[in-house]
Amino acid sequence: MMRIHGYYDIDVVNGPGTRCTLFVAGCEHRCRGCYNPRTWRTDTGTPFTLQMEEQLIADLNDTRVPRQGLSLSGGDPLHPHNVPHIRRLVRRVRRDCPGKDIWLWTGYELAELSAAQRVILDAIDVLIDGRFVEAEKDARLQWRGSRNQKIWWLRQPPPAEDIAPPGLRFSD
Ligand code: SF4
Repeated sequence: MMRIHGYYDIDVVNGPGTRCTLFVAGCEHRCRGCYNPRTWRTDTGTPFTLQMEEQLIADLNDTRVPRQGLSLSGGDPLHPHNVPHIRRLVRRVRRDCPGKDIWLWTGYELAELSAAQRVILDAIDVLIDGRFVEAEKDARLQWRGSRNQKIWWLRQPPPAEDIAPPGLRFSD
């Protein structure tokens, strides 16, 4: 079972617009200066139950407070322990929450993802990749903590002020 360290049903900080945000347990990167080392172990936090999943789906579809989408953070949603659970979750959000986008933060770099991790990319819109590097820290960056991290616009165009050439687009 996947475990989590937090769930915000209404969040305007972690990604664009109003979102639901899930912070999962488990991260093997151990970045110096990590903002949340208590999330490193996969056996910390609380179980992500089916009941929580149903609530998350209902929140995403709640028309009283329209959500733009789901943000998956941690910890690391692409930690091998989390991969099967996240794969199932993102597929379900795709199926049951039409029009909602999915952003995912990982400490791995896109180029080093395994085949199992890459399958998840098929169902998300935006990936922010890379470890947090203290020497590259920059508080002015949007959605990222350090300059080495990249935003990969897999299925969603970048905002107008952040246009990158077509193809393998990313922001740095
Ligand atoms: S990838 Fe994120 S959660 Fe994991 S150690 Fe680095 S900063 Fe912490």
